[in-house]
Amino acid sequence: MAKGTINVSVDNIFPLIKKFLYSDHEIFLRELISNATDATLKLKHLSSIGESKTEIDEPKIEVKIDKEAKQLRIIDQGVGMTKEEVEKYINEVAFSGAEEFLEKYKDSAKDTGIIGHFGLGFYSAFMVAEKVEIITKSHIPEADAMHWTCDGSPEFTLEKAKNKKDVGTEIILHIAEDSTEFLEENRIRELLLKYNKFMPVPIKFGTKEINDPAHKPKTIKDKDGKETTEPQKKITVDNIINNPNPAWTKQPSDLEEADYQSFYRELYPMQFEDPLFHIHLNVDYPFNLTGILYFPKMTKNLDIQKDRIQLYQNQVFVTDNVEGIVPDFLQMLRGVIDSPDIPLNVSRSYLQADGAVKKISSYITKKVADKLLSLFKNDRAAFEKKWNDIKIVIEYGMLSEPKFFEKAQKFALYPTVTDVFFTFEELKEKIKDLQTDKDDKLVILYASDKEAQHSYIEAAKAKGYEVLLLDSPIVAHLMQKLEGENEKVTFARVDADHLDNLIKKEDTHISKLTDEEKESLKGEIEEVIKDKGYTIQIEAMDSEASPFIITEPEFMRRMKEMQQTGGGGMFGMSNMPDMFNLVVNTNHPLISEILAAKTAKKKERLINQSLDLAKLSKGLLKGEELTNFIKRSYAMVK
Ligand code: ADP
Repeated sequence: MAKGTINVSVDNIFPLIKKFLYSDHEIFLRELISNATDATLKLKHLSSIGESKTEIDEPKIEVKIDKEAKQLRIIDQGVGMTKEEVEKYINEVAFSGAEEFLEKYKDSAKDTGIIGHFGLGFYSAFMVAEKVEIITKSHIPEADAMHWTCDGSPEFTLEKAKNKKDVGTEIILHIAEDSTEFLEENRIRELLLKYNKFMPVPIKFGTKEINDPAHKPKTIKDKDGKETTEPQKKITVDNIINNPNPAWTKQPSDLEEADYQSFYRELYPMQFEDPLFHIHLNVDYPFNLTGILYFPKMTKNLDIQKDRIQLYQNQVFVTDNVEGIVPDFLQMLRGVIDSPDIPLNVSRSYLQADGAVKKISSYITKKVADKLLSLFKNDRAAFEKKWNDIKIVIEYGMLSEPKFFEKAQKFALYPTVTDVFFTFEELKEKIKDLQTDKDDKLVILYASDKEAQHSYIEAAKAKGYEVLLLDSPIVAHLMQKLEGENEKVTFARVDADHLDNLIKKEDTHISKLTDEEKESLKGEIEEVIKDKGYTIQIEAMDSEASPFIITEPEFMRRMKEMQQTGGGGMFGMSNMPDMFNLVVNTNHPLISEILAAKTAKKKERLINQSLDLAKLSKGLLKGEELTNFIKRSYAMVK
């Protein structure tokens, strides 16, 4: 038996390995299965080019637990290692690799994120094992099978293995006392499903019983006509944990819509809703990347953190935190990205500055924009139907990625309260005659809630104006941006002022009241409602328009909304109280009645009742005020 000491400069590397990234101990299994996969693929390749005589029909990797012996074993049918290879790759290369890795990252272990996802390799076994054995037989015909043992000190033994007949490698982990969780079947299954679900070599974990496909149970009728069916025969088969050929590794032309749908289920077994559409990513220059992204249904929910995009490297799961790799706005999507070109041993801040990663991110953005445009062009009606479920991603993208903003001009939609969908250009064209004000500004009217702003919407419609329905949480930011890009365009919510002020035309109405009358009217109303916080605005409007209208100035409200949804807006505004104006229409007959009222009591009653009606139509009348209003109204109808 050969004994030796692994040549390390760090006194004892194993305690370090153990301590390192404690929470990531579980990755040892992924590392060992990755090695087994590499070895298997290597042998396949060698035999395909005639450099190896060993040919295994359908090689697999087996993971076995022996709870009693406290062993976990990973067995592959790959290239195996000769004595020299064990000495070189395990004692030297692997060790120095692990050592180098630790040297480099032990101080930055706190910078979690992507560090620790990769790089430790074979020696990560010592995070969970007190002793590791390798029994291996090279595919080279004359090579002896070898047996390597190491108990966690730098000493190892290497001798000929007695009972190893088949080509391949078996790694035996003697699980340490503090890691016995890795002897639990459920825990190992969980890890295999997390990291190895789509690895390219089948992974066997135990066996399972299935119905024997060759057996069709017979049904027999007895003399009374009663039917009995014989029991279905079962057979025992390997329990293969993974799908070695996931959809993203195939060509789009080889896949049907149903394949994409079923792959979505495979990725997210707990998702019951179908995705709206998918985007198949496939590049090999200037970087390698494949993947499938799905647009799930998204309503107002901005923080969808559960089923996220998964990042793979050659079919090995790395992480579901794709920050820095996928632009922020696309992190709301689901699916997989697989790329060997994403550096993983580095911190996120480095990742964001990395040129290759930047290219990947802008490629993904471009692909998504192209797909949206083609969906829009090919079937606009279907695209419009999906709009409300995807708009938040698109609006967020338009706000955060200038390139995407540009592209989105062609497919971003602006729906009206009556469900007509315009692009921005179409909208401008449609409204330019009626909704251009005297200063040549195009005023785009919108509502955020069809029910709550009903009376305001109706008033605008009566004038022939279009009213958009813009109700996503970040739309205030988007309006701000669109106004910035289009000097002559301004957005106004239907209740931001009365309509004649929102779209000012030359022919203003002439007031029935003299200036003195206006002054005294204002004074009288102020006197009655002085504690309620309204700014009174006396206006000559249509006699058809309501006598009192409560409005909420656009600027302040929008700034406040913007600040509430993060970024932009004006600092400190989210805590400001709402600001309301009370617009009084001097041309309405009721106003003349208020002025003409003989007693203060009657005046007060008319003003309060009108104010309550205005509040009611803005959804502001609540609680005690509402109760009093109802009582008062009943008294009046009596
Ligand atoms: P890496 O896989 O990154 O090269 P590892 O430390 O995981 O680093 O492994 C070191 C080397 O040991 C591998 O490159 C390979 O040559 C050899 N090796 C490890 N596991 C196996 C295996 N199951 N079969 C054959 N060779 C292996």
